[in-house]
Amino acid sequence: MKDITINPAIPFELPPLFEGRHLIDGRWQNSASGETFERRSPSHGHIVSRSALGGEAEAEAAIQAARKVFDSGDWSRASGKERATVLLKVADLIEQNVDRIALIETLESGKPISQSKGEVGGAADLWRYAASLARSTHGDSHNTLGSDMMGVVLKEPIGVVSIITPWNFPFWILSQKLPFALGAGCTVVVKPSEMTPSTTLILAELLVEAGLPSGVCNVVLGYGVPVGSVMSSHDSVDMISFTGSTAVGKTISAVASDTLKKVALELGGKNPQVIFPDADLNAAADAVVFGVYFNVGQCCNSSSRIIVHEDIADEFRERVIALSRKVKFGDPLDPTTQVGAIVTSEHNSKIDAYVKQAQASGATIDLGGEPLEVEGLSAQFYQPTVISNVSPDMPIARDEVFGPVLSVLTFKTLDEAIALTNDSAYGLSAGVWSENVHTCLEFARRAEAGTVWTNTWMDGFPEVAFGGVKQSGQGREIGRYGFEEFFEVKSVVMRVGNSRVPWVPHD
Ligand code: NAD
Repeated sequence: MKDITINPAIPFELPPLFEGRHLIDGRWQNSASGETFERRSPSHGHIVSRSALGGEAEAEAAIQAARKVFDSGDWSRASGKERATVLLKVADLIEQNVDRIALIETLESGKPISQSKGEVGGAADLWRYAASLARSTHGDSHNTLGSDMMGVVLKEPIGVVSIITPWNFPFWILSQKLPFALGAGCTVVVKPSEMTPSTTLILAELLVEAGLPSGVCNVVLGYGVPVGSVMSSHDSVDMISFTGSTAVGKTISAVASDTLKKVALELGGKNPQVIFPDADLNAAADAVVFGVYFNVGQCCNSSSRIIVHEDIADEFRERVIALSRKVKFGDPLDPTTQVGAIVTSEHNSKIDAYVKQAQASGATIDLGGEPLEVEGLSAQFYQPTVISNVSPDMPIARDEVFGPVLSVLTFKTLDEAIALTNDSAYGLSAGVWSENVHTCLEFARRAEAGTVWTNTWMDGFPEVAFGGVKQSGQGREIGRYGFEEFFEVKSVVMRVGNSRVPWVPHD
């Protein structure tokens, strides 16, 4: 395709194979079976990493280690200052290792190296913010229960947490969970995605270097079944913190219900941006292009549908197409590349099938719509794609396509825009573009979404909670609300003096 911007392969000396082992109770170990699995780079096709293939035995050992150290109190009852000291050291170590971590992150995930560096470096701030929370945790006191009564509500770490992460932001998403769980005093078992295991292991190395006691953070490598399912069902686990697809989230929730463990789920999305005629259309078009192509659209927050006022729909679509042609797709190792590879060839075919199905149902492909060839690299790329004449009932408008594919829908009134926004099984995020503050506020209040952006897209901060409603998840991550998820609350009611009236009458 000649009229889009493609960065061909650049000469690059690829690093040696990364060999990954489990971290269980402070010891790096291979699987009892001796089995391993490999990850090929989606962009370069070479083998990036070979990892120990965990099974039930490794998951069991990791859970037992986390349980034992939690119950010992060595970490769960350590002071906030002690925990914060470790988290702050990890933040420093992350910053010292950005280049090393980012390179593996890019080779395993296919995302551009500039993006990986941003995510890894930025994750340090999540660790620092969690450290600040670790030192400021407190409960409630009740001194108004009467002259002879007093109550305190204590916060206690919830216990052993299973953390299961997806492939698309392996380092960032782990950092949205792990420092908060550790800061609360929990012990953890982590299972990274089988597609991107290695940067989780580098982070685990940094935890050891920072002085985290053995057994507090364990990492088991392997597939969802059996490793993730043991981590979701085991009765020594108190909570599961999962990020991934809605389908797997439902499975985990069902499995976890048997032991009634707490489940926090960060799942998929079909996130709209709504554009009113009075918006700053340049800024809105840029945000739409960013929203749909960031991480090749393989992002829970991907803004894969836009809802544009019909008076400006044609003009706005042209702006989006013009900007789309300028976005640099191609070699993720080129520091100027903005959009990299698709995670697997099967997923590339799935994206293409969605596009072809939409076309067959009457939608119009205005740009792209085919796999993308990048000179010197694998076939796992997809063209920037804009589709119009999309009706709200089409799968392309309803499903999480998870690719660089934008569906354009139109509206006439604010009520109609809000109805289209909420006509979704998902509710992760939504955006509105208008210079009228009343329009933005009305939209923000009525949109069914965990996050609403007004006149911006995908700005996030460690302080601001993140999560979804409806089938985009339950519970919150980051911010004070995210931290609270890792606590149990215990009420202690105390009598002051011997004022209790006996229940059994005296003779
Ligand atoms: P996935 O659901 O296929 O896998 C996620 C993790 O779950 C992996 O580690 C996998 O091995 C594990 N897993 C698979 N089956 C399991 C089972 N039966 N029991 C326990 N664990 C199991 O998701 P993915 O393809 O890695 O990631 C993409 C999905 O994640 C998308 O739907 C995306 O929207 C979502 N996501 C959501 C957020 C958010 O914050 N809401 C962020 C990133 C990604």
